[in-house]
Amino acid sequence: MSDELDGTGIAASGPRLLAGSPIAAEMRVGLTRDFAAFRERWGAAPTLAIVLVGADAPSAVYLQQILRTCDRVGVDGRLVEIGAGVTSDALCEEIERLNADPSVAGIIVQMPLPPLIPLRTVIDSIDPAKDVDGIHPRNAGLLSLGYDGFLPATAQASVEILKRSGIEIAGKRVVVIGRSNVVGKPAALLLMREHGTVTVLHSRTRDLAHHTRDAEILVVAAGRPGLVTGDMLMPGVVVVDVGINVVSDGAGGEKLVGDVDFESARDVVGAITPVPGGVGPLTNALLLSHLLRAATDQAESGRWAAGPAAGRLSGGPAAASARNAGTSR
Ligand code: NAD
Repeated sequence: MSDELDGTGIAASGPRLLAGSPIAAEMRVGLTRDFAAFRERWGAAPTLAIVLVGADAPSAVYLQQILRTCDRVGVDGRLVEIGAGVTSDALCEEIERLNADPSVAGIIVQMPLPPLIPLRTVIDSIDPAKDVDGIHPRNAGLLSLGYDGFLPATAQASVEILKRSGIEIAGKRVVVIGRSNVVGKPAALLLMREHGTVTVLHSRTRDLAHHTRDAEILVVAAGRPGLVTGDMLMPGVVVVDVGINVVSDGAGGEKLVGDVDFESARDVVGAITPVPGGVGPLTNALLLSHLLRAATDQAESGRWAAGPAAGRLSGGPAAASARNAGTSR
């Protein structure tokens, strides 16, 4: 098998696990130090506001992980929970309040939103300077032009995990499954930036396996457990499994799985990211590195301020409730 691995350094005995957790742990050490220096210089921790509309199982898992990471590195993570019945106007007003709150350095709006809320209106209402997950058209435009904006953290994590694991992307046949604005599309753009030869597959692609079998690197971000099985893969392929799916564990409980059927893939792949413990932890660490940059930019330009607004629960529409879920160190 190793002959087919083309410099990935994978042992012939089995797949190499591309674990995000140790990389994220190392990043958190640096972030903890940098946020301590921020607090020292500016008097308080910056706030990351996380807006969750309605209840969504994968979102809830993801958000708990972000809040835990905030806590670990000394950031004030503020969960703003809004009922699924909220109107688009009320939701945008809540986001405007966060835009105007000088203690809030970054805002993320958890997707998916309820179907009746127009996504574009909500995204447009986020201040691009606080858009630490890179979903505002300004940041998306900067990414597509190759300029410096806030990158969507999950897409960035799917590329960073390859780079930090020493896997060469330049010149490789890279296949991305998924074309969402938050994961698949930006991941494809970033992989192109790294000089991969990128093909994007999606829900209307005919004969998925025809394309996946050609991939030297496969990034899967479809949100479909078991979508990719071992027989769809070229031996030695490097797989980044971005999917996070909550499924039954067969014993009355639930478990997290990716989009790749790990059992059938493990004997074929050269390297693969585990779920959980792969892309997810790195996503959170990158998100907080974006927050540090946003907070520093805002503080240096006089926009950020610790003070009465810091840690204050946002008022908001009747449907909204907010609680301060992190620390203010
Ligand atoms: P999405 O539903 O917005 O997009 C899914 C994409 O997959 C679409 O472009 C669709 O065309 C494609 N797709 C769906 N079914 C397909 C099929 N049968 N064949 C080919 N393509 C298909 O989802 P998203 O927000 O892009 O998220 C994708 C996955 O990544 C989800 O599982 C989500 O939970 C996960 N996610 C992980 C992290 C992380 O940190 N690891 C963060 C965000 C999202």
